[in-house]
This record gives sequence, structure tokens and C-alpha cells, in this order.
Amino acid sequence: MSRYENLTEDERRIINWRQTQYHRDHREPYREAARRWAKKALKSPEYRYKQMVQRITRAAVKSGLIHDPGVCQDCGVPREFARIEIHHWSYNPLHWFDVRFVCRACHMKRNRADGFIAGAKKGSKKSAHKNLEEARVVNA
Ligand SMILES: [Zn+2]
Repeated sequence: MSRYENLTEDERRIINWRQTQYHRDHREPYREAARRWAKKALKSPEYRYKQMVQRITRAAVKSGLIHDPGVCQDCGVPREFARIEIHHWSYNPLHWFDVRFVCRACHMKRNRADGFIAGAKKGSKKSAHKNLEEARVVNA
């Protein structure tokens, strides 16, 4: 399966050490980028609003108001094998609970399509339209 499978214990240790070294040497640029992002995003009203909606949604799932299918609704992977997250295709109050349960990979794909990734441009009209169509199918 993995390309690390046939390595000896020593070889593994060397690779591990190299990776540790690499991250130690390149820590600062990553940290700097994360800081820059956090400074801008965490203070924005938009981010705080989304966090609030996410908290409310999690509470709704916990209380059974929203059914949790336990699998990714895009690719079908069950929760035992992947982290299942809640995707909001829209943060409009009308659609707060109009969510989709997806694995991390599918969630990132959807967010990229929607333009929800930090620093990315807002979703185009076309992708918003597509999402609306999908939401209609899900709710039909
Ligand atoms: Zn998935």
C-alpha cells in the first residue's frame, strides 16, 4: 500500500529524522502565513458569523434536529475511516440547517468550488447556481 512499507526500521528512522529537520528549518514561513491569515480572518465579522452558525448547526445535529447519516454524502466513506464534516453551501439564515455531511477531502473540494477557502474569491454565479440546483435535488 504505502511506499514506506518495505523500509527497514533504520531507513524509516532516517526519513522521519529528515522530515523533522525539514519542518524545523521551514517552520517560520508556515507560521508567518498562518499568522497573516489568522490576523485578517479571525477578526472579520464574516468569520465570527460563520463560527456562530457552525456552533448552532452542531447543536442541531446533537439534538437530532438534523439527521447525521454517518457517511460522506459525496463519496460514501463511513465515519470510521474519515472525519465527517458539515458543509454549509450557504450561510443565509434560510439555509443554516440545509447542510451536507461530507468527508474532509470532499468538503475541501466543495469549499474550493464555492470559493469559501480563506483568501479565495467568492464563488462565481455559476458555482452558486450549481449548488442551488444540488440543494434542490437533496431536498426533493
Ligand atoms: Zn467524501
